[in-house]
Amino acid sequence: MQVWKFGGTSVGKPDRMHSIRNLITENGTRKIVVLSALSGTTNGLLSIAESLKANNDVEGNQKIDDLYAHYEVFIKDLYKTKDGYEQGKAIIDKEFSFIRSLVSIKPFTLKQEKEIVAEGELLSTQMFEAYLKEEGINSALLPALDFMLIDADNEPVLSFTEEKLSTMLEQLSDKQIFITQGFICRNPRGEIDNLKRGGSDYTASLIGGAIVAEEVQIWTDIDGMHNNDPRIVKKTFPIRELTFEEAAELAYFGAKILHPSTITPAKLKGVPVRLKNTMEPEAYGTLIADKTSDREIKAIAAKDNLTAIYIHSTRMLNAYGFLRRVFEVFEKYKTPVDMITTSEVSVSVTIDNDEHLDEIMAELRQFADLEECDKDQTIVCIVGNFSADKEGIALKVLDAMKNIPIRMICYGASEHNISLLIHGKNKAAALNALNERCFLYEDAMKDIFSAQ
Ligand code: ADP
Ligand code: ASP
Ligand code: MG
Repeated sequence: MQVWKFGGTSVGKPDRMHSIRNLITENGTRKIVVLSALSGTTNGLLSIAESLKANNDVEGNQKIDDLYAHYEVFIKDLYKTKDGYEQGKAIIDKEFSFIRSLVSIKPFTLKQEKEIVAEGELLSTQMFEAYLKEEGINSALLPALDFMLIDADNEPVLSFTEEKLSTMLEQLSDKQIFITQGFICRNPRGEIDNLKRGGSDYTASLIGGAIVAEEVQIWTDIDGMHNNDPRIVKKTFPIRELTFEEAAELAYFGAKILHPSTITPAKLKGVPVRLKNTMEPEAYGTLIADKTSDREIKAIAAKDNLTAIYIHSTRMLNAYGFLRRVFEVFEKYKTPVDMITTSEVSVSVTIDNDEHLDEIMAELRQFADLEECDKDQTIVCIVGNFSADKEGIALKVLDAMKNIPIRMICYGASEHNISLLIHGKNKAAALNALNERCFLYEDAMKDIFSAQ
């Protein structure tokens, strides 16, 4: 069994849904197909929630009407028969009547926001499944809200998914294609929740881990993981192979093609992850597994909007226990630290979530001197094979960065990652400079052609 996930742009037009129907039935493998919401829908639903939260019901209703109009047009092109169309119309009418029912709930809280945002995936999957039925395909819908669960720390409960899915699949043993919602889940209170933006990738990998799938395929609008951010750098190219560790570093440090947690469950169960392009299905894409190529520097990613905190011990040299106390403060406020550098009496860290920054600073001040924080910082993360006996890699990286001020450097934490902290305004310059210095065009071409 394989798990295939299609992102927002891959289901964003009726034609795309028609192509996906062909793709998933082509090779006869049994599959669980995870779908995102149609592109633009999740943002649209969040914007409706914003209006309703601000008690601006007129604006909220107008936005609901606009979104409904989009779906009305969509289903006209999606289905080929009158019956199919009527099925589609019944689905959108039912889901939009639920959305409209939320307008009168006051106050409009986070609970309602999560319910509204889940509608994107509920709509796309039901519409697609009705289309498969119209086409006579032997498919079934698996409701993600019945088998995806997060705990009180927002961590997915894999054992729950394993148990529930195995029962569901047993009961549907005559079916060939299963459709399910990405992104959405329930929380320990039984309410509708989600796996954060871009979470459908994570759903696919959690399902892949739960059923120990032969492979997880993430289908999107680009031909695999590129060596650098294609939105910022011009000459990027797809990477043929990555290890789980390399892919996890890239996803965590900002490569938007994958939700940051996607690799964890797949790696845990040894399930390979393949990234594929819906618009160009014959392109090789990227295979994420245990195997790697010899290339030293493989890819670069960047994570934005970080805050750097600079902490100095008030006690003098050789004080032990200082780091423990520092990290206990971050633990208390459930705030993950992304990057750390140390000197004899100082520690600098970066955090992504600054919700509790004031409390964290106040507690740190009880035993340390603090400098003013720097906001709008970016980690540039260089990923590859950097085993301890290799020379010259740091030189190459730093040479590329010679005209860009660096605030922190991390090297040696793993054999796969060098991280640099810079001001966000220098990100584009840094990514482009590293691209020119670290990747030879000829090498890239070799990589691409060897993958054909
Ligand atoms: P989906 O809607 O299918 O989940 P996303 O927009 O989340 O798609 O992810 C695909 C996008 O990720 C690409 O269109 C590309 O612009 C962006 N991206 C950022 N960094 C990378 C990278 N290193 N390699 C490939 N794509 C990247
Ligand atoms: N629809 C959700 C989002 O836009 C989840 C996803 O696309 O992966 O974030
Ligand atoms: Mg995505």
